[in-house]
Amino acid sequence: MDIKTGEGKIIITPIDDLINWARLSSLWPMGFGLACCAIEMMATNASGYDLDRIGVFPRPSPRQSDVMIVSGTVTFKMADRIRRLYEQMAEPRYVISMGSCANCGGPYWEHGYHVVKGIDKIIPVDIYIPGCPPRPEALIGGILKLQEKIRQSDFRSA
Ligand code: SF4
Repeated sequence: MDIKTGEGKIIITPIDDLINWARLSSLWPMGFGLACCAIEMMATNASGYDLDRIGVFPRPSPRQSDVMIVSGTVTFKMADRIRRLYEQMAEPRYVISMGSCANCGGPYWEHGYHVVKGIDKIIPVDIYIPGCPPRPEALIGGILKLQEKIRQSDFRSA
């Protein structure tokens, strides 16, 4: 709600909406990739898709990041490292599982003895994006879904 005063305008809004708006408008994914899906993630971060316009800036350190995009095959060897990176991230933190491998093991589901059958066995996941690999438009759709989830969340429980 806008209120006009002699000096200008005052905006009155619930604090939940303000904090959620700030969070969803500055999602900073950690810059790391695991396999072929990461190529699509890198393409999404290139100039053609201009993710900056929705406040998404990849960061080089987990301590500066609040979004982890798991883009690729998760082997058991990598699982511990991914968990450690997740725990180093700033809170509240969010996870996007990008592609079939991260969602459920993908083409390695049946015979890939070395592959974790879903990143949600290691860390909590907020958004799943199907595909092998998902196109940049699908990843952008996932980011928009995450923004919607944050918009509707109770910021005190984050
Ligand atoms: S889902 Fe497909 S494209 Fe993505 S990492 Fe697995 S095999 Fe590669």
